[in-house]
Amino acid sequence: MDEKTINLETAVIHKGYKSSLHHDSLATPLYQTSTFSFATAEEGEDRFAGTCEGNIYSRLGNPTVRVLEERMSEIEYGEGALAFGSGMASVSAILIHLTKAGDHVLCSRGIYGCTFGLLEMMEEKYGITHNLVAMTTEQEIEQALRPETVCIYVETPINPTMEIVDLEAVCAVAARRGLRVVVDNTFSSPYLQNPLQIGADFVLHSATKYLNGHGDVVGGILVGKDAEEMQRIRMSVQKDVGGIMSPFDAWLLLRGMKTLHVRMDRHISNTKKVLEFLKQEPLVKKIYYPFDEDHPQVEIAKRQMRDGGGLISFEIEGGKKEAQAFMNALSLIKIAVSLGDAETLIQHPASMTHAVVPQKSREAMGITESLMRLSVGLEHIDDLTADLAEAFKTVKAKLQKA
Ligand SMILES: *Cc1c(COP(=O)(O)O)cnc(C)c1O
Repeated sequence: MDEKTINLETAVIHKGYKSSLHHDSLATPLYQTSTFSFATAEEGEDRFAGTCEGNIYSRLGNPTVRVLEERMSEIEYGEGALAFGSGMASVSAILIHLTKAGDHVLCSRGIYGCTFGLLEMMEEKYGITHNLVAMTTEQEIEQALRPETVCIYVETPINPTMEIVDLEAVCAVAARRGLRVVVDNTFSSPYLQNPLQIGADFVLHSATKYLNGHGDVVGGILVGKDAEEMQRIRMSVQKDVGGIMSPFDAWLLLRGMKTLHVRMDRHISNTKKVLEFLKQEPLVKKIYYPFDEDHPQVEIAKRQMRDGGGLISFEIEGGKKEAQAFMNALSLIKIAVSLGDAETLIQHPASMTHAVVPQKSREAMGITESLMRLSVGLEHIDDLTADLAEAFKTVKAKLQKA
């Protein structure tokens, strides 16, 4: 079989692993080791010089982690991937790689809170500036560029309002201006969106979320289009800053990722049923889902995503008190940040993930006091809607009393 053309469903199970090289073990073995021994001093010298293949020390590469990296590179259509100890370690690695003092990073209007925190720190310490802009047209992007802009850093869909960034427009502008494009693809997973195919240079994931899918690993992955550049990042930022993934976490991820496509299909079908349920509930004021026909950017979403994903946000009548009463009335659905797990999770962005954003900016982003975000899990849909219905009943009673 032509290895280059295997489908995601096959790649997540097979790519990057040859059992004949590992005592015929069907499952990828866990190489839980910090270092590797050389047969001779000369062999050690050759490995350090790069003139002979082989492992040296687990911060520079580990066989279990390598399988994961090859698999991820394949399913994101890259030419190389690096695994990190968290999503944030991959974000910081690529930003350190691409910028130097005085540079500017143009960001989508919403970015993950800790990515924002990192950019603020880089500005304060190293004079690397950034700003956040809506990216719905090429003109909007062009106008926000500065002479010192070196890269465009994008998240789409944007948490928690599911605003979509037009990746084609971003990549077209970047190509004209010679800028690098980085996309945080955590929300879509490689099953639904492949930014490298649209023209981005780097795609990264918090592997903590859909890639692992079981809520028991914190990890990150960076995939790039240029094998030589990825190797340079491995032997510079990754090696010297050191935010590597442990072999055990890579092993768990390899196991979790085997079912990525199966899980995503159920996440999506459950979410669409939750969408229909929320639509007929009178207490719901607003719904945010990329493939909802009422989403203002549904056409862009459908151009760049295969389906709408497993996250849905909604606003109810009332304010923070009602939202909190709603969440407290749930029994099956767990109150937690993070996403992409088998368990359905709900969080309140205004007091949790976006609490550090000043209220004015929060409101401008559409994050009201009664907005909640659901990461729809893999449970039976009837049990989920029954839990939601119970919570709506509680809020109704509360609103009537007031
Ligand atoms: C969770 C998340 C991150 C950070 O990943 P960690 O694994 O928690 O470090 C970055 N971006 C997005 C969109 C996320 O959801």
